[in-house]
Amino acid sequence: MFQNRIMEKIANYINGEMVAPISNTYIDNFNPSIGAVYSLIPDSDEKDIDLATKAAQAAFPLWSKTPKEKRARVLQKLAYLIEANLDRFAEAESRDNGKPLSLAKRVDIPRAAANFNFYATGVLHYASEAHQMEDIAINYTTREPIGVCGCISPWNLPLYLFSWKIAPALAIGNTVVAKPSEVTPYTAFLLSELCIEAGLPKGVLNIVHGLGHKVGAAITKHPDIPVISFTGGTVTGAEIARTAGPMFKKLSLELGGKNPNIIFDDCDFENALSTTMHSSFANQGQICLCGSRIFVQRGIYEKFRDAFVEKTQELIVGNPFDADSNLGAVVSQSHMEKVLSYVALAKEEGGTVLTGGHQVKLEGEQENGWYLAPTIIEGLSFDCRTNQEEIFGPVVTIMPFDTVEEVLYMANSTKYGLASTVWTQDITKAHNVAAQLHSGIVWVNTWLLRDLRTPFGGVKASGVGREGGFNAFEFFTEPKNICIKL
Ligand code: NAD
Repeated sequence: MFQNRIMEKIANYINGEMVAPISNTYIDNFNPSIGAVYSLIPDSDEKDIDLATKAAQAAFPLWSKTPKEKRARVLQKLAYLIEANLDRFAEAESRDNGKPLSLAKRVDIPRAAANFNFYATGVLHYASEAHQMEDIAINYTTREPIGVCGCISPWNLPLYLFSWKIAPALAIGNTVVAKPSEVTPYTAFLLSELCIEAGLPKGVLNIVHGLGHKVGAAITKHPDIPVISFTGGTVTGAEIARTAGPMFKKLSLELGGKNPNIIFDDCDFENALSTTMHSSFANQGQICLCGSRIFVQRGIYEKFRDAFVEKTQELIVGNPFDADSNLGAVVSQSHMEKVLSYVALAKEEGGTVLTGGHQVKLEGEQENGWYLAPTIIEGLSFDCRTNQEEIFGPVVTIMPFDTVEEVLYMANSTKYGLASTVWTQDITKAHNVAAQLHSGIVWVNTWLLRDLRTPFGGVKASGVGREGGFNAFEFFTEPKNICIKL
């Protein structure tokens, strides 16, 4: 049915206009829920990035000197327009990514609007520092926007993470050349249209679509883009660092994770169980913060495991547009195959699949969609590959533990360090464990509860630097200290 249709062509947004890529070539954009192409993405290259960078450079002097109140008003208008178009954006996100429409409506799109609102208002409260040296001297530190910032984002929370970078960069007075994931470009395309409607001056934000090794790499190595904010895989992050490091670019890397979920005997059982369902399978397990290694203390291990398996078997994998689907499709065929290859590896490593572990075949229009059953695997050692490498799908492992020391050792054993979750009613134990976990974020008796003012990011191979709150303004500005002798 789709073969005979003229495919919609997504456009780049450069210098305030919706334009075709210079090469006039396109790549396929898939709808994962039906496993078919439904639109075309510009196959842009370094020429488009050069054009976008020139536009951003030309816009910088005026935008950076525009009073912050005025910048804030435009960004708040953008937030308002996203909210006003909630249904259209949520449907587009769900179609492009495969996530349940209900999730896109409840989380992705509201959060994108919140990101613009948060940083539009945040910039009004951002103050400079002064350091007095008794009666000898006074230092004051200014924070200036830097210029053209490159923002590169992944496919799992498309508009949510795209806006999380763009909003602070623009609010503080930079101009931006941005690249959404080629796997999920559609809501960034819709955002371009709203930027025009909101009255964002031309060239302030430029959105260039295309492949990572062409468009992303062109942003990374462009000599006139001194700042790169990247969210995505650890391997890509390392490649970006190899290019950007010797060019002395400012670099923020938000990378992969293999997050532990530590459940002690004394937890609030029902709360731990229901939240673990979300932290395991929300967005088909494709959230960098999902807890993929579940450690349960021996006293409640079997009770927890059995209840977890039972509840997981009740989850509905279905058309993302159906209100009762708990899980939609995973993002691509290659990603589905990668996740399934980890299930096969887990079996080779001695694991037992307690539930799931296979593709789900739906009927009707969804028969070729990429659906996976939520999967729980038991019986693996903490240091096997399945427990050390990021899978990024609806697959979790479950393991018993006895002592705090033992679980900390296992939890901290991976190269990653993004987020951890701890379940206990003993507040002293919670503090003790949280302090010793090697991760940028620790949740106690909750998961994914975010205050946008808090630092966000990981340690070790999960990233370099922090976003969130004023951390983002610090990243997107250059401080200058002025010391005046009294
Ligand atoms: P990815 O690294 O493949 O791609 C991310 C972005 O980088 C895409 O826009 C892609 O086109 C671009 N890219 C690819 N190659 C590039 C190159 N050579 N130079 C410049 N850009 C390039 O990641 P993905 O598969 O889109 O996303 C999944 C990964 O993102 C997972 O590892 C997940 O943990 C991670 N992630 C991390 C966070 C976080 O905040 N730490 C949040 C979400 C996702």
